[in-house]
Amino acid sequence: MTVLMSEMTWDEYEKKVKDSVIFLPVGATEQHGYHLPLGVDFYQIEKLSELVAENVNGIVAPTIQYGYKSQPHSGGGQIFPGTTSLSAQTLILLVKDILLEFIRHGATKFAVMDGHYENKMFLAEAIDLVLKEANRDDIKVVKCCFTDMLDEEVVTKLFPNGFPGYDLEHAALIETAMMCHFYPNLVHKEKIISEQADNLPRYEIFPQPEGIVPNSGVLADPIHGTAASGKIIIENLVKNYVEMIETEF
Ligand code: ZN
Ligand code: MN
Repeated sequence: MTVLMSEMTWDEYEKKVKDSVIFLPVGATEQHGYHLPLGVDFYQIEKLSELVAENVNGIVAPTIQYGYKSQPHSGGGQIFPGTTSLSAQTLILLVKDILLEFIRHGATKFAVMDGHYENKMFLAEAIDLVLKEANRDDIKVVKCCFTDMLDEEVVTKLFPNGFPGYDLEHAALIETAMMCHFYPNLVHKEKIISEQADNLPRYEIFPQPEGIVPNSGVLADPIHGTAASGKIIIENLVKNYVEMIETEF
């Protein structure tokens, strides 16, 4: 049987909702270099959520395909055509409204699956407001960004020359590898540029000046992102997410 809420009928959903963990994938619509599509952040987290939900008999809610504004240090910034973002208030209220609806349906167990670095604190805020408004002691929510769920030894193996950090891992090795595994047809391998963000100051500047991020939008070198490494990453993530669900619920 499907784990996707969008494919269930209301009575199928009703039978599962009280006992299941509800996964809410939250991504972004954002530039990912010349070689990856704008939907990377929501494609990946949706697929991951599905794989995890299948292992724990969960329900995957329809993905939120937009996220908080792209920042130069973690997504290249808002200067790229196609990067389409929400304000903080919109994201917070959107996530809050959706979670409160699931609570109204009888759900009590939630995993907010973050696929976009910049969403982090606004998802925390949404969850905090939900708990206050619901005002019950039987509701539990776990949340994390997928990059926080990778084991150190996997990262060390994938980056023998040193890890640039998860913020700079934008349109870079990890995302290229995962997309090669999940959606090989959407990866334009011939357009991969071996580039990295060398001009980013350590501080932030508003408005974003020209030239602090590479023209391609890639922030760290994607060249070694392959389907084989994607498989390693995804298997490790699914294992750790399943462990999280089994530990917490
Ligand atoms: Zn991304
Ligand atoms: Mn992103």
